[in-house]
Amino acid sequence: MLVTLKSPDCADSVASRLQALGLWTEKLRGGGGTRALYVRSDSASVELARVEAIDGVAAVWLPPDSHPLLDRLAGHAVVAGGAAIGHGHPPILVAGPCSVESPEQIDAAARACKRAGASLLRGGAFKPRTSPYSFSGHGAEALGWLRQAADAAGLGVVTEVLSEREVEAVAEKADLLQIGSRNMHAFALLRAAGRAKKPVLLKRGMAATIEEWLLAAEHLLVAGAAGVIFCERGLRSFDPATRNLLDLGAVALLAGVHRLPVIVDPSHAAGRRDLIAPLARAAIAAGAHGLMVESHPDPARAQSDGPQALDEDALVGLAARCSIHREQEVRP
Ligand code: PEP
Ligand code: MN
Repeated sequence: MLVTLKSPDCADSVASRLQALGLWTEKLRGGGGTRALYVRSDSASVELARVEAIDGVAAVWLPPDSHPLLDRLAGHAVVAGGAAIGHGHPPILVAGPCSVESPEQIDAAARACKRAGASLLRGGAFKPRTSPYSFSGHGAEALGWLRQAADAAGLGVVTEVLSEREVEAVAEKADLLQIGSRNMHAFALLRAAGRAKKPVLLKRGMAATIEEWLLAAEHLLVAGAAGVIFCERGLRSFDPATRNLLDLGAVALLAGVHRLPVIVDPSHAAGRRDLIAPLARAAIAAGAHGLMVESHPDPARAQSDGPQALDEDALVGLAARCSIHREQEVRP
């Protein structure tokens, strides 16, 4: 933001009034002294009218908006699988296994999710795996198992779409399309997913800035996505003690300042089940509109991410500790 001044003499008084509002400025000097103040981007978000009303302010200039479609979603919830996620709604729970392994496994997982008060069932049919030799999901067949299990339990479905080729098949079964962390920058995939016109759960790239994350959401919306829910899942850090580094500052910024829907995935952030509950509670305290947690009927036998999976009782306990109660169904 640029604030022009009626006279260079007002520079100090305007700067201190702005600072009192949480706006940090740099003086822009021209011939004859300071003509304008540049408001730094790490400042608070303040209504324009409050800045314009300051004595000595001539005009306020906003930079061109880099994500206009996204900004229009501020303050609105996204409805997916019968749940409203975002500003003004109680936190929701998305839970289920890392991978959909069999009809029996996903049925049991869905029943546990229902008992815990979850709104959506998660589970990977197409799995992004670091090693080409790891289990990479049962593909299209698993999408059918996932949908059936969710329907039987009265849950919505979220599952990852890994490539442009699979968008149609995934969109046919899922209420919410997931773009994984590794694909946040895959712009052709974002466009293809957006064209399905469904809401999208956009996981943050593990080394993506918040602005890059917001712009990835804009790609989805430009292509026609019905809405975007952000998912913070931890950043790559220098320290292997936890799998990733959960960025709760980003959650507070998106939820509290930008008023955009954001949920937190403590499972991929921690990588170990004993840290899920404290991170989940911290996420809710930071303003998250929901949690995405990996759970499994028998974590010791999970084909992927077993060490971070919660069993049924742990999932139910977690939901209770985070005061998650399923909201009344909302129709899209
Ligand atoms: C997942 O949620 O299944 C997943 C692979 O997570 P991420 O993309 O955050 O690594
Ligand atoms: Mn996983």
